[in-house]
Amino acid sequence: MPLAQVTSTTEELNPFKIAQAQLDKAAEIIGLDPDVHEYLREPQRFLAVRIPVKMDDGTTKTFTGFRSQYNDARGPAKGGIRYHPEETADTVKALSAWMTWKTAIVDLPLGGGKGGVICDPKKLSVGELERLSRGWVRAVAQFVGPEKDVPAPDVYTTPQIMGWMMDELSTIRGYNVPGFITGKPLGLWGSVGRGDATARGGMYVLREAAKAKKVDLSKATVAIQGFGNAGQFAHKLVTELFGSKVVAVSDSTSGIFNEKGLDFEKVRQYKEKNGSLKGFPGAKPVTNADLLTLDVDVLVPAALENQLTKANAAKVKAKIILELANGPTTPEADEIFHKKGVFVLPDFLANAGGVTVSYFEWVQNQTGDYWDEAEVQKRLDTKMTKAFHATFEAAQKFKVHMRMGAYAVSVARVAEAVKLRGLV
Ligand code: NAD
Repeated sequence: MPLAQVTSTTEELNPFKIAQAQLDKAAEIIGLDPDVHEYLREPQRFLAVRIPVKMDDGTTKTFTGFRSQYNDARGPAKGGIRYHPEETADTVKALSAWMTWKTAIVDLPLGGGKGGVICDPKKLSVGELERLSRGWVRAVAQFVGPEKDVPAPDVYTTPQIMGWMMDELSTIRGYNVPGFITGKPLGLWGSVGRGDATARGGMYVLREAAKAKKVDLSKATVAIQGFGNAGQFAHKLVTELFGSKVVAVSDSTSGIFNEKGLDFEKVRQYKEKNGSLKGFPGAKPVTNADLLTLDVDVLVPAALENQLTKANAAKVKAKIILELANGPTTPEADEIFHKKGVFVLPDFLANAGGVTVSYFEWVQNQTGDYWDEAEVQKRLDTKMTKAFHATFEAAQKFKVHMRMGAYAVSVARVAEAVKLRGLV
């Protein structure tokens, strides 16, 4: 498909077509060898499996699951497993492509993968969920493991599910295999520092971006969309590490704004007690739409995809956008930001802290040498800082925005490994 056509229609296309279009654009920018390009346009291995599960009522229900190993030229495939009623093969393929670029941008010795099961976990009992999770492992057991493919939690999968899965593969192999899967509970060889890893990694990238763009973070104002894992830790850490002032935060029901700043601990406790931010004392309400266009220095989308679109991008006043959420900016909005000079720190760079600490978990499991939190944070800082500078240099070299700069670096790294192996 010609590139112009791809760019103009990406909002309507399915996620895998979007992932392919992004690769095509990166290939054009870096002058990728056409044979390598062709090889990289599809997952290297894609499994669709049937998982029979004994239900509590005595019937057996068969679920469909997937595992996509997009590319493992740089190391074992790495990526989460999603449980979702609307899971599709193409979503899993797209996410596995994005994991390939994400592990490459932070220069982990890993490839990209993703898995999923079509199911509604809210309708399953704990026992059914456990049998489904063990069934998924039995179905893919020949194709996964610490040296081949290392899954992790994702949408609606939890540390407990990772624990069951690790136990199932260990039972099949006849010995303990902690490095099979990451995001495990701390009591089952999880890593310290995983809880705030995504936001913390984002902070290190933000720090470098602020230096490059000459933004003084100690005087900066910040708005954060989303108050879950990523958003809450972003609020806490941006204040703790840099002394920035968070003036607005939101969740799915409401947003709050105070130009003098919102105290993290007070907001967190209020949300915990009331289940929502609505009515937080000493702050004005702000809609999610208005939060995105507030006059702040840093905007942090940390909730959903497709929040910054051609409809609102021109009105965004932030100097830096730190994408902790996956896919918050549409390609059309990206171009508007690039022209306006808004500095976008793209999702697969900005939120790579999560997979980086997952990688640390795998390393610790493989070596049996367990690190403290300070060690994890120091190593995370090194990885994220290097990834930012590699991206920034590529964006300047190719005169493209940071997202394309990140693609240019990642695709070139994967292509180099493919070539060095003599695959193409
Ligand atoms: P989460 O479920 O903990 O939190 C999501 C938050 O978004 C909640 O506060 C929810 O109220 C809010 N929200 C939902 N709809 C909203 C709306 N319309 N407007 C404003 N807020 C809304 O999820 P999370 O783990 O924090 O993930 C958030 C984003 O970060 C996702 O895009 C996820 O893919 C991405 N991400 C997370 C991690 C991680 O380690 N947690 C890693 C990489 C990427």
